[in-house]
Amino acid sequence: MTNVGKSSLYSKGGSCFRLLTPASSALMRLGAVMCLAAIASTATGEEWGSIQLLERDVPAGTSQRFAFVPDRTFESSYLNMPVFVARGAAAGPTLCLTAGVHGDELNGVEIARRAFSRIDPKTLRGTVIALPAINAEGVRTGNRYLSDRRDLNRAFPGSAGGSVARLIAHMVSTKVLVHCDALVDLHTASNERTNLPQIRADISDPEIRELAIHFGTGIVIAGKGPDGSLRREAAKAGIPSIIYEAGAPHRFQEEEIERGATGIDSVMAYLGMTDRPEREIPESRVYERSRWVRVPRGKGGFFFPEARLGTIVKKGEALGNIVDPLTDEPHTVVASVDGEIIGMAFSRPVLSGYALYHVAWHTAD
Ligand SMILES: [Zn+2]
Repeated sequence: MTNVGKSSLYSKGGSCFRLLTPASSALMRLGAVMCLAAIASTATGEEWGSIQLLERDVPAGTSQRFAFVPDRTFESSYLNMPVFVARGAAAGPTLCLTAGVHGDELNGVEIARRAFSRIDPKTLRGTVIALPAINAEGVRTGNRYLSDRRDLNRAFPGSAGGSVARLIAHMVSTKVLVHCDALVDLHTASNERTNLPQIRADISDPEIRELAIHFGTGIVIAGKGPDGSLRREAAKAGIPSIIYEAGAPHRFQEEEIERGATGIDSVMAYLGMTDRPEREIPESRVYERSRWVRVPRGKGGFFFPEARLGTIVKKGEALGNIVDPLTDEPHTVVASVDGEIIGMAFSRPVLSGYALYHVAWHTAD
């Protein structure tokens, strides 16, 4: 999956443009070479046509929805997932949308479906491949993990002989990710928490930074993501990849879903795939650092949050309370840094070390 050249440059209406202005002159030279190659291949009659994916042929200007695994064995019913493909009438990059890696994170599943359903392949330049429910079993059962209790988002790039998680990761890596020039993976906060709409991205990579900023809505949080996560492993393989996550699991939240679908529209416009408006997240909303405020040792109890998502807080400011239900002893939860609240726990029983508030800040002021 070394498609650095592909992801650095796309052909648009007979001319060439980059995903961004590369920082290094080596990349610029590569871009120039690829640009000439694209023109040459067009001149020799190699024209844009259908895409072959998972032994299907999707003609230019059409879209299809089908099952990843066509056979009907017992095991394949656990590995299977829906695949949506829109092949544009004109040449362009391939944007991949993934959701449901954590099966209970429903906002992402609906964002992928909604963004895909709005695509008109007759006017699209390039290709969109959506896997809206990678962990389909988890989506059906409301389970973050797979049926073998493994986290699919730690199993990438996967292997051909391994657990269900590694098998699914391997299928996705070898059959779909090889086609992707850019990837948006869709999530929500994990159990019993909620997140301010945010892009997670390794902004030290200029291509990924540009992709993140052109989501156009919410904030950007810097970070590569954990080892074995789809986003990190796809980025390692040369595919600029970002996460959008918003809201809480186990429910559909209209505002977050619509915002996510709009963000994908903006990314498509940025990649030259549509003529829709292209938007940018301002520099002041790119947060390089973040830290969790946790329950101090021995201060477990019933948690009652007060500060809300999006609140700007100062170090030492009260965020909420924990009361020990056996002793009535109260504890005030305070901010450990200045910043904006980008994630928080719902009111619930909590124990030492439980993550309560996620606070992020911009270092370049
Ligand atoms: Zn997730």
